[in-house]
Amino acid sequence: MSNANLPQSITTVAARAGEQSVPSVNQPLVEPIYQSTVYSFPDLEALEASMAGQEGGYFYYRNGTPNAQSLERAVAQLERTEAAACGASGMAAISAAFLSVLKSGDHVVTDERVYGVSYALLRDELPRLGIEVSFVDALDLEAVAAAFRPTTRLLHVESLTNPLLTVVDVPALARLAHERGALLSVDNTFASPAMFRPAEHGADLITHSVSKYLSGHSTAFGGVVAGRADLVAAARLKLIRLGGTISAFDAWMTMQGLKTLGLRMRAHSGNAQAVADVLQNHPRVRRVYHPGLESHPQFKLAQELYPDGFGGMMSLEVEDASQFVRRLAGRIPLAPSLADVVSTLSHPWSTSHRALPEADRRRLDITPELLRFSVGIEDISDLLTDLESALE
Ligand code: PLP
Repeated sequence: MSNANLPQSITTVAARAGEQSVPSVNQPLVEPIYQSTVYSFPDLEALEASMAGQEGGYFYYRNGTPNAQSLERAVAQLERTEAAACGASGMAAISAAFLSVLKSGDHVVTDERVYGVSYALLRDELPRLGIEVSFVDALDLEAVAAAFRPTTRLLHVESLTNPLLTVVDVPALARLAHERGALLSVDNTFASPAMFRPAEHGADLITHSVSKYLSGHSTAFGGVVAGRADLVAAARLKLIRLGGTISAFDAWMTMQGLKTLGLRMRAHSGNAQAVADVLQNHPRVRRVYHPGLESHPQFKLAQELYPDGFGGMMSLEVEDASQFVRRLAGRIPLAPSLADVVSTLSHPWSTSHRALPEADRRRLDITPELLRFSVGIEDISDLLTDLESALE
């Protein structure tokens, strides 16, 4: 081969080396990670086609990568929605969802039990933009209805609430919102689409923190909003303009975890139910919060809405939370996240719900003794041995 047309400068050769390789004629079984932050075009017409939204017309990382799009397609299929858009975190997805439907002068009704940072977003940030927010008990449908105003555009809840696993009546709330011309947004992080699909019950916008059950191994970070194509397109625009892009690597990692979502959720659900059944009768355990216990206030509704189980989340109050955590160290770590394949404990009082005033935390039963337990997929007999020895 002649090198006559190649540049001779080592600097130029090095800068251009290898970037014109021939794509593989065989399809890789697993999608590669597309790390390039920009794409090149043969001419202005090709550039224009991509900018105008041509299928597969990637041009700039912030606007979308093949890896993000694969995850979006997967989540839309799982949530049974028309579309989905990924973001850099669960909060990016929730913020984009809110900002895409709300403008100054609008009003939001939200469950007062939502995740602490969602609560802080609703309490501190939206009012600065001229959006008013009412916090209500979403279990009290009359209170929810009474909170609506002519300007109410959005009702926001979590399907299974963090951390006490209350079961919100999504079908009734969807009807209530739609009759009043509002949309229903449901944070489905705790349940995952393996256990509950809010769109099948009338929800318009569904959000997730993907570092939880969707990815499942505490190794990927991101968020997603799913729903009708026009609503998702509006949320995507906010994610792009506010810069909340998911990284290609995190989208790719989430796809690896997603492959076992069904298997993991079955294992999480079975273990959490078994742990709740045992701990509810333990003399050193004051309270257990799990929707599969007959003592749970929404037990009947939970059976109707969640025929396949509830995932791995539960909460408990023990006599001495600090000692319990210390005695489990090395086996069930204290780690302020959830949904890993290994069991973890967290302390909502000092982490997820820290933003709520102390009196509100206590009123909502989020006490300093409360521990949230993300039950993993370990062998159930090992888990029960660990828990029982820590309670001795
Ligand atoms: N929603 C729920 C229920 C959560 O538990 C969390 C985080 O723990 C979020 C949203 C926020 O997600 P992220 O931390 O990915 O921003």
